[in-house]
Amino acid sequence: MIKEIHAKKLLSTTKSPQAWFNVKYNMNIYRGCEHQCIYCDSRSECYGIENFNDVLVKINAVELLAKELAGKRVKGIIGTGAMSDPYTKAESKYNLTGKTLEMIAQHGFPIHIITKSNLIIKDIDTLKDINRIHASVAFTVTTTDDELGKKLEPGASLISERLKAMESLACAGIYTGITMMPILPFIGDTEHNVIGIVERAAQCGAKYIVPWFGMSLRDRQRAYYYSRLDSLFPGVRERYQRKFGNQYSCSANNAEQLKYMFNEACSKYGIITKMSETKNYTYKAPEGDQLSLI
Ligand code: SF4
Repeated sequence: MIKEIHAKKLLSTTKSPQAWFNVKYNMNIYRGCEHQCIYCDSRSECYGIENFNDVLVKINAVELLAKELAGKRVKGIIGTGAMSDPYTKAESKYNLTGKTLEMIAQHGFPIHIITKSNLIIKDIDTLKDINRIHASVAFTVTTTDDELGKKLEPGASLISERLKAMESLACAGIYTGITMMPILPFIGDTEHNVIGIVERAAQCGAKYIVPWFGMSLRDRQRAYYYSRLDSLFPGVRERYQRKFGNQYSCSANNAEQLKYMFNEACSKYGIITKMSETKNYTYKAPEGDQLSLI
């Protein structure tokens, strides 16, 4: 179900920008997410989203953003895609991500987007415009197998479509890469899968791949994930229960070995693997302005 709402605020300021692609301001246009990834952490109780299948559309997002950007003296990267994908089917109808990007371009702010959709291509001209300052787009890729991807991320674009979109953005000069997370224990934690992602990423112009060899699991997220495992991968839930119990952090099998092979492969293709080394944006205060650099 899609429901329109009027939000009170759009941007939140992050406490530790360096922890996530130097994002200073976070923005979510939608609440809930139609991509319905079976492992999604946003289902966890701490986020207070009662029914994650419902998508709430912040119908006044553009007006809110215009007001909030006008009041910001310090420019910093605006991030979107952390709690809800900005390019789900709702975006095809509302184009609110597209319109907010235009607003961001007008105000001269940099952007970092994370998505699992090729719908982002509709905004390529605006992204090129923002890229005069800084635009970076990360596609989340957890496997190169489209059939497996359909099971894990049923509402998202096919992985082959995401990689094609990444290639188009890279050709347009946009800084692109991959968030390779999560690597699911007993499902995606094979050398074949991990090296396959690196090779496809290199072919499609990825400058960086930020990995996580494992996943998190808690409360509602775990309950939903386990119910999907029972339908899609019979017997795998029992392996999780035996290995992880109620643990929050669930490491991939052979994580150290996978990491070693991943680093070797990335180094062969000149791909950055540390978030701290990815291309960044630093605000420089106009001359005479007493604000310190961020
Ligand atoms: S795209 Fe991200 S926010 Fe949406 S369901 Fe998947 S993991 Fe959750």
